[in-house]
Amino acid sequence: LGCCEVICSDKTGTITENKMTVTSMYFNGNTQNNKFRLDEIGKKMVIAGVLCNDTNLSNGKILGDPTEIALTELGRTLNLDKFNLDNDYKRLDEIPFDSNRKLMSVLCDYEGKTMFTKGAPDLLLARCSHIMKDGKVVSITEKDRQNIISANEEMSGRALRVMGFAFKSYNDGDRLEEEGLVFLGLMGMIDPPRKEIKAAVKKCKRAGMRPVMITGDYSNTALAVAKEIGLAKSMDEVITGEQLSKMSDEELDERIKKCSVFARVSPEDKVRIVEAFKRAGKVVAMTGDGVNDAPSLKRASIGIGMGKTGTDVAKEVSDIIVTDDNFATIVVAVEEGRKIYGNIQKTVKFLFSANLAELLSLFLVTIIFPKNIFLFPVQILFVNLITDSLPAIALGVEQPEANLMEQPPRDKNKGLFSNGIGTSIVILGVLQTALVVAVYALGIKMFSDTVAVTMAFYTLNIVQMFYLTSMRTNAPFYKSKPHKNPYFLLAIAFCFALLALFAFTPLKNLLSLVALTGTQWGIVFGFSAAMFIFSEIYKAVVYVVKKSKDKKKEA
Ligand code: ADP
Ligand code: MG
Repeated sequence: LGCCEVICSDKTGTITENKMTVTSMYFNGNTQNNKFRLDEIGKKMVIAGVLCNDTNLSNGKILGDPTEIALTELGRTLNLDKFNLDNDYKRLDEIPFDSNRKLMSVLCDYEGKTMFTKGAPDLLLARCSHIMKDGKVVSITEKDRQNIISANEEMSGRALRVMGFAFKSYNDGDRLEEEGLVFLGLMGMIDPPRKEIKAAVKKCKRAGMRPVMITGDYSNTALAVAKEIGLAKSMDEVITGEQLSKMSDEELDERIKKCSVFARVSPEDKVRIVEAFKRAGKVVAMTGDGVNDAPSLKRASIGIGMGKTGTDVAKEVSDIIVTDDNFATIVVAVEEGRKIYGNIQKTVKFLFSANLAELLSLFLVTIIFPKNIFLFPVQILFVNLITDSLPAIALGVEQPEANLMEQPPRDKNKGLFSNGIGTSIVILGVLQTALVVAVYALGIKMFSDTVAVTMAFYTLNIVQMFYLTSMRTNAPFYKSKPHKNPYFLLAIAFCFALLALFAFTPLKNLLSLVALTGTQWGIVFGFSAAMFIFSEIYKAVVYVVKKSKDKKKEA
C-alpha cells in the first residue's frame, strides 16, 4: 500500500454512507419530492418496492440491502408495511438481483398472479412495452420514454440513486421472464457521501495518488457524487460501461489518463480497468465486495475487501480487508504503509552505518596501529547489545515524517537502499569511524594503550546515541519532537544507564575497561557529539539537493 498509485473504489458504501432514503418519486408523468401523495399508480409502485424486496425484520430492525431497506422504510411511512403485505401477497417465485442485469423480479399472489420488477431505469425501460397512465395500462410511446429518461436525468443529476419499477400480469404456464413489462415509475434515493471523503480525496491527490470511483449507478448520479467529493468536474471524466464495451484496449489506455469515474459498469469491467492501469505501469488498489468482484480483486496489485458488506469470497481473495468499508480508511492505511516502510528504511540505515563503523574502525586501527591492542571481542559484543537492540526498535515505532503524504508514492522497483540511503550509510558510517579512530589515536598519544581502548569503546557507543538522536527524522533536530517517541527516550536512557553501570562499578573489569578522568570523558563526549552535528549538516545537504532536483523536474 505504501507505493500505491491508483485507488479504485466502489462508490456505494465505500465513498457513500450506504444509508439510503427515498426522496423523490416519479409516476403518471409527475415528479414529487420529499412529501408524497400517492394515486393508484404511485401506490402500486410502492407495493412493487416492498414486495420485490428481500429485507427482513429482526428484533424490530430492518436488515438487508440498503437500497431495499429504503424501500421498506418508505412503505412504512405510507402505511404499506412490507411485513404485512408479504403475508397478504405470498411470493411464489423470483429472479434475484445481479449486478450485470441490474434487475430483480418476484412473482406474487397479487391480483391473480403478478410479477414485479425493479432495477436500473434505463435497463428496465428497455424491457417495457406498456405503461400505466391514469389508472390504465396503455402501450408505451416514444414520448413516454423520453419523459421517463428526462425524469431519470433530473433525479440522478441531484446525486440520487434512481430505480425503476414495473409489473406484469402472469398466467399459469407463462415463462417467468423480464420482457413486455408495464412501466410504473421511478424512485430516487439519496445516499450522501461520508463526511470524511472530501478530505481523503484531497489527501490522496496531494500524496500523488489517483482516486478512481467505480459504480454500477447511472453516470449522472456518479458524476454528481464525484463533483461533491472533488473527484471529477465534468462528463468528459466519466466512462460508462457501455462506452467501455465498445472501446479497444488502446483507446482505454488513452482515456484512463484523465477519467476518474466509471459508471454503469459490471464487475467484469473492473478487471479491464485494473489491467489498463497496470499496463500504464501503475500500482493499483481495487475495492470489492461481491462474489463476482473476485477476479478484479485478484488481478489488482492490492485487492481490498470490504469487512462489513463483503462476501466471504471477496474477502478470501483480498490482500487486505477494510473493516469499516470506508474509503478514508484506505487512505489512512496507505499512510501507515508509507510510515512502516520509512521506519524500516531508517532502522536499516542506522544498523548498517553503526555496524559499518565498528567494522571499519577495527580494520583501520589494525592497519594504522599494528602493534597496539584495540577492542576486545566482549567489548564489541557489548556495543552490539546496546546499539542493535532498543535504538533499532525505537526507530521501528518512529512517528511518520511530517511531509509523508505530500510526496509521490515510492517506486516499487527501487530497493531498500535507493534514494540516497546506500550513500548515507557509507558516508555516515565513515564519519563515525573517523571519530572513533581519532579518539583512539588521541588516547594513545596523550595517555596509554588501555585508556585509549576504553575511550574508543565509549566513543563507539555514545557516537551512535548522538547519531540516533539526529537521524530519527529527516527534518532538522529542532523540529523533531523527541517526546513523541517515548521508545527513543527509553532507548537513550537505557544505553546510558547500562554504560554507567559498567563505567562506575567494578563490573568494568568484566569488559576490561579502566576508569577515565574528567578530561578523558570530555574527549569521548566531545567527539561523540560531533556526530550529531555531522548528521544535521548531512540532512541539510540532502534537503537542499532534493529541493533543487525537484525544481529541475518541475521546470
Ligand atoms: P453500486 O453498488 O456500484 O451502486 P450496483 O450494482 O449495486 O452498483 O447497482 C447498480 C444499479 O442496479 C443501481 O443503480 C440500481 O438502479 C440497481 N439496483 C441496485 N440494487 C438493486 C436491487 N436490490 N434490486 C434491483 N435493482 C437494484
Ligand atoms: Mg451495490
